[in-house]
Amino acid sequence: MSQVQNIAHRIAAFLQKQNAAFCESCMVERLLVASRAAMKAALETEQFTTRVGICPDCKTRKQVIAYRGQAGNQAGNKAA
Ligand SMILES: [Zn+2]
Repeated sequence: MSQVQNIAHRIAAFLQKQNAAFCESCMVERLLVASRAAMKAALETEQFTTRVGICPDCKTRKQVIAYRGQAGNQAGNKAA
């Protein structure tokens, strides 16, 4: 597993557990990601979607990242 895949996996697990969208800088701190470049690459994968919202950690309105699930599923429907 590459570093980017590894980070993407951790981000996905974190976002699913929290069931919320967090900003990039808060996720870097929460997940102790050492490489910002790898973090950005992970966030660019199809699993995640970026939108403007309020991060529950820093309470700031900014770009937040949400977990979208597997590629192709853009409906955002919750698992039953
Ligand atoms: Zn934040």
